[in-house]
Amino acid sequence: MGVERLEEVRREFTAAIEAAGTDPEAVERVRVRFAGKRSGLLNELTAALRELPPEERRDYGRALNELKRFIAERLEAAKAAAQAGPAAGFAVDVTLPGRRPPRAGRHPVHLVRRRIESIFLRMGYTVESGPEVEDDWHNFEALNIPPDHPARDDQDTFYLPGGFLLRTHTSPVQARVMERQAPPIRIIVPGRVYRRDSDLRHSPMFHQVEGLLVDEGITFGHLKATLETFLHELFGDRVAVRFRPSYFPFTEPSAEVDISCIFCGGSGCGVCSGSGWIEILGSGMVDPRVFERVGVDAERYTGFAFGLGLDRVAMLLYGIPDLRLMFAGDARLTRQFS
Ligand SMILES: [Zn+2]
Repeated sequence: MGVERLEEVRREFTAAIEAAGTDPEAVERVRVRFAGKRSGLLNELTAALRELPPEERRDYGRALNELKRFIAERLEAAKAAAQAGPAAGFAVDVTLPGRRPPRAGRHPVHLVRRRIESIFLRMGYTVESGPEVEDDWHNFEALNIPPDHPARDDQDTFYLPGGFLLRTHTSPVQARVMERQAPPIRIIVPGRVYRRDSDLRHSPMFHQVEGLLVDEGITFGHLKATLETFLHELFGDRVAVRFRPSYFPFTEPSAEVDISCIFCGGSGCGVCSGSGWIEILGSGMVDPRVFERVGVDAERYTGFAFGLGLDRVAMLLYGIPDLRLMFAGDARLTRQFS
């Protein structure tokens, strides 16, 4: 008997209360064994005080009070935990399923961009990029759009201080690549572009992908074969592809390219406005005046260029009805593409 015995009891109690966990009956058994009114160990230890020599009684009494307080507190905490149940803490219910972190998906524009990139990478193209803040030269003049050209009105431009602007198309990257690299050139350029335009079918920021091929002996036949192959890879072998004469300042001749409507198969529906055709991209042979401006020998080289809207293609491929959904940042949209 003595202070050592108190230490021993403290260790026994600690082991017992930990073993009891949040089981209310086990906690109660521990309480009765140590702090029970009649037969508890604490009673025994209190009675032992009288057997001790007087000089030991003070230390023993102090240690005993400390032990009583310790046991009372731990019992109180164990009872509270047992009442709250296992979910509240002390014990972990390993049979519960884990909590999954919220899972995002890829944005449809990103998915379409990757698909288009992979088609052209297989055809030997490389992916290029350029600045979104452009100068007037690369966005307009190098592409045969002088300051008084009416094509500038079609592209309502965000102008920035210092003669800069937000690029209105990905075409300036064509000019930048031709300025620094001699043909053969085979690039596609996906990226963001900006126009002062905002309604149900237009967003001030949207995505384009641009393609350029320059080499000796390139003809309109190469353009047609490349774009037909591309559109069949993207929309499936069964779509029909047609070329319509058109006009762009940086290509001559120019053509707009339609595919047969992927929703009605050509018989006419709401998406194709009853025409059976969907406009998908613009294209043409690079205008020799563009070659001259960027320092490519127009006598030796020819080439073709094309461009299309990634957002529009994503909406068509994934059946997304409203352009605004693409830029609302709502995870419910992208989660469908995880
Ligand atoms: Zn249709």
